[in-house]
Amino acid sequence: MSTTPPSSTTAAPGMAAEMTSPAAPLPSATILGYPRIGRDRELKRALEQYWRGAISAEELGGAAAGVRAATRERLTALGLGECSSIPADFTLYDQVLQVTATLGAAPARFRDLLDAEGALDLDGHFTLARGQGSRPALEMTKWLDSNYHYLVPEIDAATPIGYVDSSIADQVEEAAAQDAQVVRPVVVGPVSYLLMAKPSDEAAEGFHPLDRLGDVLHAYGHLLMGLRAAGAAWVQLDEPALVSDSWGIEPDRVLAAVREAYSWLGAIVERPQILVAGTYGSLGEALPVLGATPIEAVALDLVAGGLPQAEALAALAGKSVVAGVVSGRNIWRTDLDAALTTLERLRESLPGGTPITVATSTSLQHVPHDVERETSIDPQLRSWLAFADQKVGEVLTLARGLAQGRGAISAELARDAELRAQRAAHPGVNRAQVRDAVAAITPADRTRAPYAERRRAQAERLGLPELPTTTIGSFPQTAEIRRARAAWRRGEIDDAAYDAAMRAEIASVVALQERIGLDVLVHGEAERNDMVQYFAELLDGFVTTEHGWVQSYGSRCTRPSILWGDVARPEPMTVAWSAYAQSLTDKPLKGMLTGPVTIMAWSFVRDDLPRAQVADQLGLALRAEVADLEAAGIGVIQVDEPAIRETLPLRAADRPEYLEWSVGSFRLATGGAAPATQVHTHLCYSEFDVVIDAVDHLDADVTSIEASRSRMDILPAVAAHGFERQLGPGVWDIHSPRVPSLSECTELLQRAVDALGAATVWVNPDCGLKTRAYAETEESLANLVGAARAVREGL
Ligand code: GLN
Ligand code: ZN
Repeated sequence: MSTTPPSSTTAAPGMAAEMTSPAAPLPSATILGYPRIGRDRELKRALEQYWRGAISAEELGGAAAGVRAATRERLTALGLGECSSIPADFTLYDQVLQVTATLGAAPARFRDLLDAEGALDLDGHFTLARGQGSRPALEMTKWLDSNYHYLVPEIDAATPIGYVDSSIADQVEEAAAQDAQVVRPVVVGPVSYLLMAKPSDEAAEGFHPLDRLGDVLHAYGHLLMGLRAAGAAWVQLDEPALVSDSWGIEPDRVLAAVREAYSWLGAIVERPQILVAGTYGSLGEALPVLGATPIEAVALDLVAGGLPQAEALAALAGKSVVAGVVSGRNIWRTDLDAALTTLERLRESLPGGTPITVATSTSLQHVPHDVERETSIDPQLRSWLAFADQKVGEVLTLARGLAQGRGAISAELARDAELRAQRAAHPGVNRAQVRDAVAAITPADRTRAPYAERRRAQAERLGLPELPTTTIGSFPQTAEIRRARAAWRRGEIDDAAYDAAMRAEIASVVALQERIGLDVLVHGEAERNDMVQYFAELLDGFVTTEHGWVQSYGSRCTRPSILWGDVARPEPMTVAWSAYAQSLTDKPLKGMLTGPVTIMAWSFVRDDLPRAQVADQLGLALRAEVADLEAAGIGVIQVDEPAIRETLPLRAADRPEYLEWSVGSFRLATGGAAPATQVHTHLCYSEFDVVIDAVDHLDADVTSIEASRSRMDILPAVAAHGFERQLGPGVWDIHSPRVPSLSECTELLQRAVDALGAATVWVNPDCGLKTRAYAETEESLANLVGAARAVREGL
């Protein structure tokens, strides 16, 4: 770097700065982050009220401050009182957007929103997150391999980058002023921020966001000085991107960026001590690089990442180590004995005298607040669980055990061992019938007849035209449907009335599809609250929560089900609805299931059985459902696997094993289908090339994918790969209410036909229609069917 680190002479120390010496050690226990949405989703409510215009900016600010104060109070009450043990990681919408706002790094289309200092106001902040009129929002994408979504920064050579917004430092001052507490601000680190960014549309060919590292470091330098001035003794810079090798950039370039970033930030004099958190996996090569920079501490994820080799740990001499042994990703009690063993081994492997802080593996943002509130979960099952507040307790217990020896926590260890034994012996955890069925699976169960034979049998049975038209499954979930379901749940209407309401909806969806002229119909999924929870509620081995909300993005929260036991299907789950829909039409009706990998990805999955086995248990349950659908006369069955790509391991080396079992479980679910039964699958994204081999191995007869947003960019990759079976690249972007014109659909479809050949192509939207309204649905589907007709004529 040619520039020198910013000097601090201009930064006036805040009054809180005197409270702590900058050399205060890290506490013996901490968490890397806490749920930000509030115990009762207070922030969600306040945000949505603000967006509706029901409350003012001041009221929203008050609600946000209330959530922060409640978090500090709660964490203090739970025992995290030491200096810097409480993280200040609050953000109104997203932690990556928080950095974008801090830097004023608005993409060109939002730049008019920046004020004279280059900062966004509250509404500007939300405009980046949510879009406005013809200005599309920042793209949203998955945060590592979690179900949280962040807003992707868009960077180019002209993007303004400075330190323009002091919100993060304000949190530090707020805690000092209100509770005389020295909190530890948490910020996405500069290298991860740029790796998780994308070049903007204005960026020159070959530009990479990392090209702006120098400017970003300069801004972070001022941020660190601001944090120090506000009184922070420590700052936590999250660098989860370093545990992944899937950023499409040379690993050496990433390591060089790490070296440059932390040498430079470390050289700043008036700064808090720096903790770099390598969460969600193992830091690998980045660990020794960080070890050689003048930072004070490194956090290791010892749950996802495993204990590094002693040689790698030797590089941390002189630093503190934050040991993430309590999972921030799942809701199971920590195995205290195993975690303490890991801590002891870590202490032996580290250079003598290295201070160790016991911590969570990641922020607790992925888990709900407090399991004590789940009074409708069976108390025994509940005693096996740990949500955020319980995990704080575990961290503190382990810190005591590490400092004072096992004897100091013998009661906790004994209690944990007892619960663990109870869990292992529970009849629902280990069901002989399920275990035997999984043990009896043979490769033949995962193998259907050769595709050519299937294709012939299906053509004969279904008699479909060329370029068959269909949808992905769901039709609009109207307010009426949701009202009926809510009334049914509250007991205001009985089963028969609910059933009648759903049947009426199904009949109207079938009639609509016939009117529009689609070839393969669906029943519309009116009866499903959610494509995973619906099945979780009907399968043995799952439990659902009342308050178990976790943030998905912004104000959106989901309530994942808990997969705790062996999975079995007590009775058919979808057959009555599909059979009823089929009885209303002579066209083939497509049965609709959610695949094993997606059910797992969107639930909290048991930690006491290999994932591959859980997937096979689900595969067997779905296989039975497939058989029952066939027996009821359903000739087309779709098994959705939108998550197969999402849960792809972060490191390429871990992928083959994952793909083996995930693909295997799908094949188990569908492998019993007769040759004349047409199996479909659906994947929700267009970066298809990464998993194209795996998708090929799913051996579905028809695969539908998202393609319209990227204007069929995927076609060359598919054509080059030589995808053998049928493919439905979406011709309608269902993510927006815009109706695609007939000519637009025709053009996209024609492109697909030109690239893949008419015999391969299906005509469908990008994804399900549950979030759309009927007006645009009817019009768009009519254009989609019209496009199929137009292109067929030209064949
Ligand atoms: N069948 C589901 C639907 O149409 C698929 C949705 C998805 O894959 N996300 O809603
Ligand atoms: Zn989809």
